[in-house]
Amino acid sequence: MLIPCFACEARFTPDEYFAACHDYHRGRDLVAWTCPRCGNRDELRVLPGELGFGYPSRGGYMVEDRFRVPGLRRRRAELRLDISLDKRVWRVPSRTAQPAHSVRHAPTAPGRPVSTDRQVLTGTAATRAGR
Ligand SMILES: [Zn+2]
Repeated sequence: MLIPCFACEARFTPDEYFAACHDYHRGRDLVAWTCPRCGNRDELRVLPGELGFGYPSRGGYMVEDRFRVPGLRRRRAELRLDISLDKRVWRVPSRTAQPAHSVRHAPTAPGRPVSTDRQVLTGTAATRAGR
């Protein structure tokens, strides 16, 4: 079976097609896809047994067209989406990988003295208000 590009109507084997998927957006549950032939960039939702194509709607995504891919399966991992078909797996990394990594570095030692300072200030203010 072959999966078409909706822009240039070239058709791809599942291997060619899913290898061109990139940037899984976990929040919107979409993967980006760039056509290896014409370079058109599309977004799609990988669903069990089918691909969903649509448009952004009210902060979500409305699937309008579905393309049946019998046996297609998906599994959400923490920083990627695993797409599997016929015992093959394509891993689409999440594009939020970088921000999540930098957040992990944020709560370091300098965080503590700031809250202590605020307590001191509040204490001073309370004392001043008491007089
Ligand atoms: Zn194309």
